[in-house]
Amino acid sequence: MHVTTYWLEHAWLDTHVEPAVTVTVADGRITEVRTGDDTPPAGATALRGLTLPGLANTHSHAFHRALRAKVQVGSGTFWTWREMMYQVASRLTPETYHALARAVYAEMALAGITSVGEFHYLHHAPGGTPYDNPNAMGEALIAAADEAGIRITLLDTAYLSSGISKRRGGKPPDRHQVRFSDGTAHAWAERVSALGDRYTKDDDHVRIGAAVHSVRAVPSEQLSTVAEWAEARGTPLHVHLSEQTAENDACLATHGRTPAQLLADHGVLGPRTTGVHNTHLTDEDIALLGSSRTGTCMCPTTERDLADGIGPAARLQHAGSPLSLGSDSHAVIDIFEEARAMELNERLRSRVRGHWTAAALISAATADGHAALGRPDGGRIEPGALADLVTIALDSVRTAGQVPRLGAETAVFAATSADVRHTIVGGRHLVRDGEHTLIPDVPGTLARSIAAVRG
Ligand SMILES: [Zn+2]
Repeated sequence: MHVTTYWLEHAWLDTHVEPAVTVTVADGRITEVRTGDDTPPAGATALRGLTLPGLANTHSHAFHRALRAKVQVGSGTFWTWREMMYQVASRLTPETYHALARAVYAEMALAGITSVGEFHYLHHAPGGTPYDNPNAMGEALIAAADEAGIRITLLDTAYLSSGISKRRGGKPPDRHQVRFSDGTAHAWAERVSALGDRYTKDDDHVRIGAAVHSVRAVPSEQLSTVAEWAEARGTPLHVHLSEQTAENDACLATHGRTPAQLLADHGVLGPRTTGVHNTHLTDEDIALLGSSRTGTCMCPTTERDLADGIGPAARLQHAGSPLSLGSDSHAVIDIFEEARAMELNERLRSRVRGHWTAAALISAATADGHAALGRPDGGRIEPGALADLVTIALDSVRTAGQVPRLGAETAVFAATSADVRHTIVGGRHLVRDGEHTLIPDVPGTLARSIAAVRG
């Protein structure tokens, strides 16, 4: 058994910052957490700064990284942004998507992210024809995460229709969306089962989960097929929920109920489910999500970038919905920024400060994010947990000058992903002194892979 030892100058132990902590790792898991070693024990690797549990990026669409900056020209709405996003989607192949995702996941590793939830709907070749291997795109993403050294929960997404309709099967997918569609939820389940059978629950690096793209994209009579698949397999189930008022309006007009109510009616809500965005909710929706223990993944940097609105995160959590965070469209990849944006959005709305403590925001970024990705054993520094750590500098221009006791407040309210000095995944020293140890030139890798899909 390979044993590795890290000595953490300062460590976040769930409730407080502890100085001088020795963490022992064997077979990818933490076996011992010891306090009081004032200097690194012989053979230990010293991690200087503040070490947190590895960060979970609960909601990602890897290919949206290619849109950065390009979509900041001109004006518009979510719907005009979506047209530009479809242009990039139309150009991806398993080879170019693999290269792009590998670079994006390497950027995530440099940002301290050790687990990603990839909400994956780009399944088929242009025109909607399945590849010879119908899971070629999903496997390209899994390989990309493996090569970048981070864990992935592939949330394979059912995307069958272009809009809500009384007609069975919904409105047919448009010319862009045919690449996303398996035709029916049963066909989706068959394809994803073949992928899921390849990865056991003992696989610490890959999980296959399920997603309903949205109530726009899965006709109501087929929602339960996806929910039952996730239930039978014990996997996470994610769904974009009420990101846009137009979705609510169409759902009310056709079904006489809100998207959250429709999902509840068809068995989609519950503790294994995470609603992504949860922006435009009624009081009844909030009560429904909270009482069913459905999670909420907030993506504040994307929600503000797309002019979506501010979701009721504080009320959702108060009602019983666990919170997690995602960088979604990757306008930026910085989980510290997502965490503080959730709090600061609430401050702007309420004109009151301090809705979450720094500890609560770190919990959303770590333990609760991991739980939403089907990893209840991640996101904590304790014996038995996945040995995933991230160390931020406490001597950068952003973080210098504070007492280490306020390390959590410094991390959440001042640090950025540029302050990440070390990332450890399963005990492996993946990012060392700010350098990715598997992919030497991450900026160059990003530039080349994005240029390859530029129109
Ligand atoms: Zn999304």
